[in-house]
Amino acid sequence: MKLETKCIQAGYEPKNGESRMIPIIQSTTFKYDTGEDMGKLFDLEASGYFYTRLQNPTNDMVAAKITALEGGTAGMLTSSGQAANFYAVFNLAGCGDHVVASTAIYGGTFNLFSVTMKRMGIEFTFVDPDCSDEELEAAFKENTKCVFGETIANPALTVFDIERFAKAAHDHGVPLIIDNTFATPVNCRPFEWGADIVTHSTTKYMDGHDATVGGAIIDSGRFDWMAHKDKFPGLTTPDDSYHGVTYAERFGNEGAFITKATAQLMRDFGSIPSPMNAYLLNLGLESLAVRMQRHCENGQKAAEFLESDPHVAWINYPGLPSSRYYERAKKYMPNGTCGVISFGVKGGRKAAETFMSHLKVAMIATHVADAHTCVLHPASTTHRQMNDEELAAAGVSPDLVRLSVGIENIDDIIEDLKQALKATE
Ligand SMILES: *Cc1c(COP(=O)(O)O)cnc(C)c1O
Repeated sequence: MKLETKCIQAGYEPKNGESRMIPIIQSTTFKYDTGEDMGKLFDLEASGYFYTRLQNPTNDMVAAKITALEGGTAGMLTSSGQAANFYAVFNLAGCGDHVVASTAIYGGTFNLFSVTMKRMGIEFTFVDPDCSDEELEAAFKENTKCVFGETIANPALTVFDIERFAKAAHDHGVPLIIDNTFATPVNCRPFEWGADIVTHSTTKYMDGHDATVGGAIIDSGRFDWMAHKDKFPGLTTPDDSYHGVTYAERFGNEGAFITKATAQLMRDFGSIPSPMNAYLLNLGLESLAVRMQRHCENGQKAAEFLESDPHVAWINYPGLPSSRYYERAKKYMPNGTCGVISFGVKGGRKAAETFMSHLKVAMIATHVADAHTCVLHPASTTHRQMNDEELAAAGVSPDLVRLSVGIENIDDIIEDLKQALKATE
C-alpha cells in the first residue's frame, strides 16, 4: 500500500459483515473462560487483552496504522505527546544515565528533560543541532543511552540532520529517537534516514481538528539491543517485575522496545488514551495525506507573502530558499515541510502583540498544526519558563510570532495577515 492508502486502510481489516470503521471497544476489562487463559496473558505467554490500562483493541488498531505509516515494526498510543517522549526516553535511560538531546525542541519536552527527568537522576547534554562534529562527539559519555531530536523543531523550525545524528548515535552504540510531530510520516519518515524510534504528539496534524490530545511511539525494529547488551540491561536481562522475561530475547528487535514500554511503563504510569479518543484520532489520520498537502501549499504561499511584506523583520520557513534549512528540508522532505511559519514583526515584542490583536481569521491559541489557522507568541506563553539564554538556544527570539497556517482558503488568510500587519504602522 502507498502512504495515502495506508492513511485510510492500515491497521484494521474488517472481516465479512464487520463494521467498516474501527470498532470503539469502550471497555476497561475483558472476559476469559478460565483463570489459566488469563494467567498466560499476565505472563506475556499469550497475546490478548485483559485491562485497558495496558492495551485496548481500538488503541492498538490506530497504533498499527501509525506504525504502518512510519514503516515501523511495533507501536503504541499514549494519552499525550509528553507521555510519548517521556516513555520513549525513560524506556532506555534511568537514574545515573545520560542522554544527548538537541537544543531545538518543543518547550514542554525541554522542561520534561531539563527539570523533571533530571530530578529522576537522568543527565541531559543539549547540543545545537548545527554543532560541529567535535562538539557532537564531546556530548557523548560512557553512560549515554540515546540521542533525541525533532525533525522540524517546534517552534524554531530547525530542520534536524537525521542521517548525521543517527550515525553519531550508532557510532556510540545507542539509538536515535526522533519526534516527528511537525513533519508527520506524510512528509518525512525518519526510519528511512537511520532513526531507530519515532515519537509523535498526535494532538497536532495527526488529529488535525483540535479534538484530542494524544501521542504515539513507533519502533523501527532495527536497533540490535543484544549487540549492546551491557548498555541496555532493561531490555537484555530478565525483568523481575514481569516473571523474568527478557524482552530482547522473547520479542526480538521488532517487538522488545514497545513490549517493555507497555508492560512496564504503561502498567506503572498508566498514560493510556481512551478508546473514544483513539477513534477520533483515526478519523484525523484518514485525511492526513490530503490535509498535509494543503497545509504545505498554504504555508508556502503565506510564507512568500510575509517575506515580501515590509512590516516583517525576518521570516523563517524551511520552504523558502532564503531559509538556512532550505536544502536540508529538500533532502528530508521533498514534498513539503509543514504549515508552521515563524517570523518577527518590525517593532519587536510590542508590534507583535498589536499584529496579533488585529487578526480576524487567524486565532490566538496555544496550539499549532491543525485545520484552523492560529498564532502564538512563544516567549510570553509556551516558552515563558526559559531564560533569555535558553530561549536563544531553542531558537526563540522575544519578537518571534509562530503562525500555524490551516487549511482555510489561502486568500482569506493572506488578506487577514495583510490588514493586521498594516495595523502595526
Ligand atoms: C505539542 C508537542 C509535544 C507535546 O505533545 P502533547 O500532545 O501536547 O503532550 C511534543 N513534541 C512536539 C514537537 C510538539 O509539538
